[in-house]
Amino acid sequence: MHRPDQGNRALRQPAGSVASVIDLHLHSVFSDGSETPERICELAAEAGLSGIALTDHDGTGGIERARVRAGELGLRLVPGCEVSCQTEQGSLHMLCYFNAVDDSFAAELDRLAADRSARNEQMATKMMELGLPITYEEVIEEAGGKGVGRPHFAAVLVRNGAADSIQDAFDRYLGRGAPGYVNKARLAPAQALELAAGSGAAGVLAHPLSLGLERSDLEQLVAELAEDGLFGLESYYGRYDPETRAELAALARRHGLTPTGGSDFHGAYKPDLAVGTGTGDLEVPDELLDELVARLGTPAARGA
Ligand code: AMP
Ligand code: ZN
Ligand code: FE
Ligand code: FE
Repeated sequence: MHRPDQGNRALRQPAGSVASVIDLHLHSVFSDGSETPERICELAAEAGLSGIALTDHDGTGGIERARVRAGELGLRLVPGCEVSCQTEQGSLHMLCYFNAVDDSFAAELDRLAADRSARNEQMATKMMELGLPITYEEVIEEAGGKGVGRPHFAAVLVRNGAADSIQDAFDRYLGRGAPGYVNKARLAPAQALELAAGSGAAGVLAHPLSLGLERSDLEQLVAELAEDGLFGLESYYGRYDPETRAELAALARRHGLTPTGGSDFHGAYKPDLAVGTGTGDLEVPDELLDELVARLGTPAARGA
């Protein structure tokens, strides 16, 4: 996709003018972001961040490259990924942060990736049957061959004139329940948390309002996930307003969880979100990174 200037608004904020901030939710070209792991590290450094986590969907392919560039830039890096889960109330995303993943976690990510590929092919077929101007080859090319996701379909539809914007493509064809949509494999949240625990990883409920639950139902779900070993709740989210962030942070603490945060940067695929600052005013305090890192173990610690 055409890559506009990322417009990283945080550049306008002199580094060091506020307490150090971090961004624990970032997508690269290894899933459905438009920027390389290296470029993300550079944007983070330019924005004056002290630490980041790379959290591509259902995969860890970009981590080593990010680790190298983060090291060169003096940026703390926590490896991560964002795992799609299914509950009775709807789908949710679980951010998993780790030092390394063990074999069973890696095998499950591979299985999810294989299912994603099969589902993507089905989606392309469905769209061609709908008469939309799209081929699977174009979608794969758009994605650079790896981590194909719905935003890549959206970009092709926009380029070929079938939608006005990425969001329009989702609204018309790609969103859940829309005519081009095909579901993909998802884990139960408890399963994701168990896998995470096996690698000494920490699980964080991503963008908790995406479930569309009433606050009392969200509180109940968070209580259940906390029982299952959830570490944190993504409270400081790129698209939430300051009141919502504070409310979610309080919800997290009520259940003994750490309120984490990040922009959910996808580069050109979500052009309103910048590394570090989200829609403009995000500031995730870096003490949370210490809390997170203190929790992380290693796969070898399994059963210890
Ligand atoms: P996939 O993993 O292929 O199902 O695609 C997930 C990606 O699509 C994530 O980046 C989501 O933020 C994005 N996405 C899902 N639903 C929507 C929607 N209704 N509007 C815009 N983006 C969406
Ligand atoms: Zn995404
Ligand atoms: Fe997500
Ligand atoms: Fe995300």
